[in-house]
Amino acid sequence: MFRFVFTGFAVLCLISLAAFSRDTQHPSLPGPPSWLDAHRVNAERLIKEAHADQFAWNRLAELTDTYGARLSGSENLARAIDWAVDAMKTDGFDNVHTERVMVPRWVRGSESLEMTHPPHHSIPMLGLGGSVGTPPDGLDADLIVVKNFDELNQRAADVKGKIVLYNVAYAGYGQTNVYRTTGASRAAQHGAVASLVRSIGPIGLRTPHTGNMTYAEGEPRIPAAAIPVEDAERLQRLVARGIRVRLRLRMGAHFEPDVESFNVVGEIRGSEVPDEVVLVGGHFDSWDVGAGASDDGVGCIVTWETARLMKKLGIRPRRTVRVVLFTNEENGTRGGTAYRDRYLKEAERHVLAIESDSGVFAPGRLGFTGPEGAVAMMREIGTLLAPLGFSEIGAGGGGADIGPIAAAGKVPMLAYQGDSNRYFTIHHTPADTVDRIAPEEVSKAAAALAVVTYVVADARERLPR
Ligand SMILES: [Zn+2]
Repeated sequence: MFRFVFTGFAVLCLISLAAFSRDTQHPSLPGPPSWLDAHRVNAERLIKEAHADQFAWNRLAELTDTYGARLSGSENLARAIDWAVDAMKTDGFDNVHTERVMVPRWVRGSESLEMTHPPHHSIPMLGLGGSVGTPPDGLDADLIVVKNFDELNQRAADVKGKIVLYNVAYAGYGQTNVYRTTGASRAAQHGAVASLVRSIGPIGLRTPHTGNMTYAEGEPRIPAAAIPVEDAERLQRLVARGIRVRLRLRMGAHFEPDVESFNVVGEIRGSEVPDEVVLVGGHFDSWDVGAGASDDGVGCIVTWETARLMKKLGIRPRRTVRVVLFTNEENGTRGGTAYRDRYLKEAERHVLAIESDSGVFAPGRLGFTGPEGAVAMMREIGTLLAPLGFSEIGAGGGGADIGPIAAAGKVPMLAYQGDSNRYFTIHHTPADTVDRIAPEEVSKAAAALAVVTYVVADARERLPR
């Protein structure tokens, strides 16, 4: 006990000494930027409040346990939207309302994939969003496996009448998902009858990953599905041994007419310049498997938290903080484009647009895209995140839902980026559930976003654009 007290005292002395010598011996050392000082206390309060309990994680669990997967056009999403409106009102937000958006309604239907030769083997699969289905009895065809588009083109003469499997090694999401999004039409060009893609993720857990795909104009529309990494490798090994592999694919996928959905909006109106807006949000829809926890329930919750924490602490910044839960990011981005269309005249009054759609798995970081002056200001704001252990705010702001309004108004963008390995391991799979996310990760993301949102909304000077 004594020892602890003594050590503590000694440390205090050292700190005072260090502060003293810094003041006296290095008067030229730059101190913290003075404009930030007015925001320090509230920044600390926001960080503390975000960690005071597990409110944000609990809200995410409530959302994903109650409503689960929230595909555009589904009843789950519609009911979750009603719940969010009520919850924002309970939080005491201003101007809580919904904004109507017509969204596509893609229905998976029942589906299966089997190997029928050599002996029977059932393969886990997920149809890709936007795919057409097979005839009701399914389709039977021989398999051809390729490693990339080059090999597909080289072997174009062998593709006709076959099911093409792209067994493409994961090289990062952006690089690999082109096989998911465009592979079907590229295969159809050469006469393939269906297209399979090895699931896009850094490791396989024998889990198929769904995701969106689109058809090229003028090519036949063939069914497209994803299979687990392990099954893609197995099929590759079989054909490499010269074995003829025959598959039967059945998919009930189809589109139904567009249906009404909504972006959910809630605000803290600014005290001095309410027409200037800091936009912050994520997408509320998800794929129809899993519970849309990391993609993107948690992005909605942590961006929503920015305003809830301010409200709870009685902080009303100079500018308006507008939380938007966007609909239909996954298979249409119609929420993001509807937002731009509605607020087009006010696009330039958006001071900053913030999106969280990369999960919150540690270690998280903040990425920013904006002009030089804004980068400098964000870097200064980033120093307030030191208690959270964040490195400097780096490059890489942006997001599918804030992209349209940002392009329209030259709006700087900030993104929360969680660890991508953990994120893409469960991305668009049945395993995207709240269990994988630690309460601390949610609190930390909420705290970081709350501080940045608050300071940009409250700063005397507008963030340069
Ligand atoms: Zn997403």
